[in-house]
Amino acid sequence: VKVAGQDISVSSTSGSKPVSKDSIINLDHGDPTMFESFWRTMGGQGTVVIPGWQTMSYFSDVTNVCWFLEPDFALQIRRLHNLVGNAVADDRHIIVGTGSTQLFQAALYALSPSDATEPMSVVSAVPYYSSYSAVTDYLRSGLFKWAGDASAFTGDSYIEIICSPNNPDGYIKHPVLNSKKGKMVHDLAYYWPQYTAITGPADNDIMLFTVSKSTGHAGTRLGWALVKDREVAKRMTKFIELNTIGVSKDSQVRAAQILKVVSDGYELPVTDPAARLFDYGRRILGYRWERLREVAKTTGMFSLPEYESDHCNFIGQQTSANPAFAWLKCERDGIEDCENYLKSYKILTRSGKHFGVEAKYGDPETQDPVVYDKGVSYMFIQHNNVFLMTA
Ligand code: PMP
Repeated sequence: VKVAGQDISVSSTSGSKPVSKDSIINLDHGDPTMFESFWRTMGGQGTVVIPGWQTMSYFSDVTNVCWFLEPDFALQIRRLHNLVGNAVADDRHIIVGTGSTQLFQAALYALSPSDATEPMSVVSAVPYYSSYSAVTDYLRSGLFKWAGDASAFTGDSYIEIICSPNNPDGYIKHPVLNSKKGKMVHDLAYYWPQYTAITGPADNDIMLFTVSKSTGHAGTRLGWALVKDREVAKRMTKFIELNTIGVSKDSQVRAAQILKVVSDGYELPVTDPAARLFDYGRRILGYRWERLREVAKTTGMFSLPEYESDHCNFIGQQTSANPAFAWLKCERDGIEDCENYLKSYKILTRSGKHFGVEAKYGDPETQDPVVYDKGVSYMFIQHNNVFLMTA
């Protein structure tokens, strides 16, 4: 498929096959393979060669709080944030993690007092990214525990996760709690210009980013945290030391090159417009959203979130959000379980109940505003990859 002269066909590693009557469309699991064709166009620029004698040590820079962070990766992270203007990265500690998934756990560890009698409550406003609850509780830690919807939380000691733009609904989010004793972790995985308007540099205490969403290199398994406080940065580093004794240097060398190519695409004087990752991402996602909205309108069965447009400082114009996923609402009466309904058409999606929306089931007695009328009527579909499998 070509959009604006550029090939945006689905990728080879996504396992995509021509649709046949036996095909199953899996929109449950996201995989950012839509960026593959961009990186193919970039050819050798994204290639790294690591001789057998290199990256052998556990250590990268013993003078740094995060002693396993490759200096060149740190340099490219700061360069990219300064270029895009999405986060304050200078004078911040950078902690590298095996995906932002590891950094999320490192942040919980760092923010939970080790001598508390009760585990720290971890909350996020519904609908929240379905992994937060699972990852918080899978080891049944004595340090922290999942406490659900931030809006329903009472108490002044907590860690609030703010995901913005939010997975799953794509909206810009702000903290809902404001106790002095409360701590915050900002998951800014999608605060990049292909997904949303960059309205200013984020400057929060702990900000999580990942190459999975910024450049599409989910398989490299690298994320980074920008951390203000040195003690918190040290504890996050300690977690990773205990968990995996550092983070793959080979991955960091590769990611440094990948980030460099992205920045070069905008900063070098003679660059081909086709070498601009964020423009490419915006085009492909814009195209997919246009088509998805058309389908939703034609059937009348589903509704999709509407996003206000905003001025993007990076592209210098008004733009509206194009999330990598869609939060689909089933509008047709009589469909009790939309996940099952779509499954009967061989379309796999993830029910809204995994995102904590069941708790907001409307209360007919109090007539409280119904935020989510029915957990199962909301569906999450991954939009960054259309994954076809043969039944
Ligand atoms: N945060 C959000 C909001 C995500 O959607 C994802 C990936 N689905 C992650 C974090 C995890 O990213 P990583 O691949 O870096 O572990």
